[in-house]
Amino acid sequence: MISFNVPPVVGNEMDYIRHAIEQKRISGDGEFTKRCCARMEERFHAKHVLLTTSGTSALDMAAILCNFQKGDEVILPSYTFSSTANAMILGGAVPVFVDIRPDTMNIDETKIEAAITPHTKAIVAMHYAGVACEMDTIMAIAQKHGLKVIEDAAQGVMASYKGRALGTIGDLGCFSFHETKNYSMGEGGALLVNHEKDMERAEILREKGTNRSKFFRGEIDKYTWVDFGDSFLPSEINAAYLWGQLQMLDEINADRLHTHKCYSEAFAPLAEQGLIEIQHIPAECAHNAHMFYIKLRDLEQRTAFIRFMKARGITTVFHYVPLHSAPAGRKYGRFHGEDVYTTKESERLVRLPMYFRMTDEDRKTVIAAVQAFFAQTEAR
Ligand SMILES: *Cc1c(COP(=O)(O)O)cnc(C)c1O
Repeated sequence: MISFNVPPVVGNEMDYIRHAIEQKRISGDGEFTKRCCARMEERFHAKHVLLTTSGTSALDMAAILCNFQKGDEVILPSYTFSSTANAMILGGAVPVFVDIRPDTMNIDETKIEAAITPHTKAIVAMHYAGVACEMDTIMAIAQKHGLKVIEDAAQGVMASYKGRALGTIGDLGCFSFHETKNYSMGEGGALLVNHEKDMERAEILREKGTNRSKFFRGEIDKYTWVDFGDSFLPSEINAAYLWGQLQMLDEINADRLHTHKCYSEAFAPLAEQGLIEIQHIPAECAHNAHMFYIKLRDLEQRTAFIRFMKARGITTVFHYVPLHSAPAGRKYGRFHGEDVYTTKESERLVRLPMYFRMTDEDRKTVIAAVQAFFAQTEAR
């Protein structure tokens, strides 16, 4: 059996978790949370990083910080996880979906401007598979029209665009540390606050509407309820787990990139024969091997492929029924323009097993099975 995902474990998690317990400090914003945030701020040249309970809650925070008013609209791709849209709805905005580019599966930056109305307040750039959206173009559009940019970099930790870490380019960035992501803490995430002016409000929002963060730093002598808030801070037990992973940023990244490279090389001949399409990485993007996907001919062939792999004990998955066609998407949002690629490309895409410390043997098994599938298809 080869799983689609295996949660990353580096080996020192138990020591750190034990340490947190022995310190008698398991609630949020203790030593491990501070270390994790400092490490990310330093490594990604991020102004401020706040650990959150999930990637979803980081997106929720970002949306709330945008202060949407009734009727405001946010432009985002339809090919994304439900959380990207849910957060905008929670923040009070209407999701307006636009089409994706077939080469990266990211929002098509050339279709954003046409979707802008007087109600548009923000653009969400979701970096699919850790491959950056065309950020220069998106930032220029946002600046021209006075819009906020939220980066959904849930899949983009350790990836960059023109040398800048994903999550640090827009106004607010969101990471996920779910067990299916490159770095994990079980459930967790981070909000990257890229403007100093948003930081005070972000801290209050994260701490139940109180100014407790200021109090902990000794900046005030009592804390109180100062604004609307919620609870978005994770426990030190989760942060301790993440700390182990963040010390291994480069090792985990290199390991995943190696698997990605093995797959890319093995499948290049199939791509050359036109049997599949493999991931396109634009020159300005350094990706993080968050996933390896291939695109097949159509939905029917993909269904056959997944069944074929499953019979060989290999789990392959697809995801993201385009949000605009899902029940909640129809209820809460609308699609602007024509769906040229979103549905068509999403039906062809399938993800292969990809995780930290995947063995050479398992990679070879997956590669051989994919090759066998196309050998039998060709023979037919
Ligand atoms: C995983 C993911 C999320 C949500 O992250 P959680 O930590 O699971 O809440 C949001 N957006 C995208 C694009 C994701 O891949």
